[in-house]
Amino acid sequence: MEGRLPVVWHEAYEVDLGDHVFPTPKYRLVMERLLQEGTIKEEDVIKPGPAPDQAIARIHHSDYIAKIKNGTLSPLEVTLLEVPFSPSLRESAWIAAGGTILTGELALERGLAVHLGGGFHHAFPDHGEGFCLINDVAVAIAELKARGVVRRAAVIDCDLHQGNGTAAIFAKDPSVFTFSIHQENNYPARKPPSDLDVGLPDGAGDETYLAALRRHIPDILERHRPDLVFYLAGADPYREDQLGGLNLTMEGLRQRDLLVLEACRSRNLPVAVTLAGGYARKLSDTVEIHCNTVRAARELV
Ligand SMILES: [Zn+2]
Repeated sequence: MEGRLPVVWHEAYEVDLGDHVFPTPKYRLVMERLLQEGTIKEEDVIKPGPAPDQAIARIHHSDYIAKIKNGTLSPLEVTLLEVPFSPSLRESAWIAAGGTILTGELALERGLAVHLGGGFHHAFPDHGEGFCLINDVAVAIAELKARGVVRRAAVIDCDLHQGNGTAAIFAKDPSVFTFSIHQENNYPARKPPSDLDVGLPDGAGDETYLAALRRHIPDILERHRPDLVFYLAGADPYREDQLGGLNLTMEGLRQRDLLVLEACRSRNLPVAVTLAGGYARKLSDTVEIHCNTVRAARELV
């Protein structure tokens, strides 16, 4: 299987949210494009099952899980979530968490694996927000640690938005290093500190962004020495993003992906990629940016 990139995906990620800025068809569109062009093959695509409730419960509080299961989130809680709650949203979140666990396992086995889903970094133990119901990356880290296959992990969060849920979850856990590079003047208003936050000014472009990564990523990997890296390859730092105010080009984002992935690969650190956000005016741009991430990963296997 050398030279093959495992790709995790499930059709349940395409949740009907009505008229909404979050384009859930992107997951399928990315996979279809990659298959069509031959970057991945049918046999590389692996469908995850839902995360076991026990794994979800390592991060999320039992009363929050019960409310999701029973469909009894309050109107205020649904407002904070910013997506309509439905059984298919719940199913999608459980499978995304299972998918990120699986991607972590595959990364440990094969060095590199991609989840065409996941990266729901705004979910906290006791509530969801910002389109994120369940923090799949946190669930995966806790699960892999509980199984004893990972002792130390790092989260490299390159979504436009600060990874507030992940930062809060691992605030007191020295075994998990959380890094977030984001637009400072954007959601979330309150940003619980990550182990390292880089808050960029409005309009920051490729050079500023890549310089920050060059400055910090090697240092994080060498100092923290994780057994596994989770990379959130958000497409929303793109200059044409509807929710973002950074000014990265598609080429800049491709360089970002290569920089992060090469930094991990050159140190023999397994890396599990999740897609996270992306709300470009043209859906085809978001799809292209995510495809570029997978193409970069494919180049490196
Ligand atoms: Zn985002």
